[in-house]
Amino acid sequence: MAGNAACGDDLILRERGQREVFCGLTGIVWLHRKLQDAFFLVVGSRTCAHLIQSAAGVMIFAEPRFATAILQERDLAGMADCNEELDRVVNELLERRPDITTLFLVGSCPSEVIKLDLANAAQRLSLVHQGRVRILNYSGSGIETTFTQGEDNCLRALVPELPELPELPAQSEADSPKSLLVVGTLADVVEDQFARLFSEMGIEPVHFLPPRRATELPPVGNGTKLLLAQPFLGETARALIARGADLLEAPYPFGVEGTLGWLRAAAGAFAVPETRFDTVTSMPAARAQRALARYTEQLAGKRVSFLPDSQLEIPLARFLERECGMIPVEVGTPFLDRKLLAAELGLLTGEVRLSEGQHVENQLDRLRRERPDLTVCGLGLANPLEAEGMATKWSIELVFTPIHGFEQAADLAELFARPLARRGSLRFGTCN
Ligand code: SF4
Repeated sequence: MAGNAACGDDLILRERGQREVFCGLTGIVWLHRKLQDAFFLVVGSRTCAHLIQSAAGVMIFAEPRFATAILQERDLAGMADCNEELDRVVNELLERRPDITTLFLVGSCPSEVIKLDLANAAQRLSLVHQGRVRILNYSGSGIETTFTQGEDNCLRALVPELPELPELPAQSEADSPKSLLVVGTLADVVEDQFARLFSEMGIEPVHFLPPRRATELPPVGNGTKLLLAQPFLGETARALIARGADLLEAPYPFGVEGTLGWLRAAAGAFAVPETRFDTVTSMPAARAQRALARYTEQLAGKRVSFLPDSQLEIPLARFLERECGMIPVEVGTPFLDRKLLAAELGLLTGEVRLSEGQHVENQLDRLRRERPDLTVCGLGLANPLEAEGMATKWSIELVFTPIHGFEQAADLAELFARPLARRGSLRFGTCN
């Protein structure tokens, strides 16, 4: 058992076994909506094509911004043809779609794709299309990634492309912040809300990664203060730190408390006076608190468990425990990155069992024994658990839905209240 800041390594249950998670290709669903001039070409099999088409929906009226180049079974001797086929697909695509400014070749796990060197292919194709389109690669393979790691790999691939932050004028203090970089995909409406709050506090310039257009990459360098909007971006954060950025320790902006703590970290780095911070945040925080109150009554006292899936589990458990009065029983996460979660681990107050990694059979055994009121898990496990009479929430919805910031705090609580209400209705036979 682990409680509050004392979550020492020896107190965390480590699980190694069969995993039940989506692969990193899933990230294309939200990345392609954000990066409006980029294209994601999955180099994969029919299974990969089915996955992203069913997850993202097939666009009928708009030109799609993702596709799958399907490579059939080949032995190593056929790899030259494979490269030729990939070049042909890319050339045809770029000829037909002059609007694409950045092309991501996304690797997957079928054996014929693993044999293909996509980094080399991206370099080769970049030379051919130099000056016209940037071609990058990353892996979304299910062997290497859980579903939110696809975003981490994609943003990591962009880091070397970011322009250098201009040098400080000679009279400036060497350690004064020069820009704030918010990292992690945010819905445009949420990005606008945060941009407004930072501006009202006098924090500028503020950049977002990913940006809305891949041609407008934010600068990075010494003096960049890095504020993560998602807890699953460890590789991207390390790459940005290597380029001179300084990571701000903060909770994630989920719920009122998380959002206040997140904004406060930026305010502290930019020496925003406390009174100004309070003036800017007090009204939206109070509004969010009132909206949240509608759901806390339904959630308070209910027990919740998280199966490891999105890496959002710890911040969300903190929100549910501290702001909604829920009782986390087990909080499982695929990976526990202590650096990125330092502020969050200090906020979990109850006797929460933290687990890292997955052994799905062991976790299901514990779940059946403990029978929490709500289980947050992947799609594949939700239906069987519902059939066993347990209320579930799909963790993937927490990535697809805007949940960051003050204005979304009540929506976030509602996502957890809804399955409980539905199960209550089913139990009393009132569902129609
Ligand atoms: S990358 Fe692997 S796990 Fe993901 S859809 Fe393709 S075959 Fe399946």
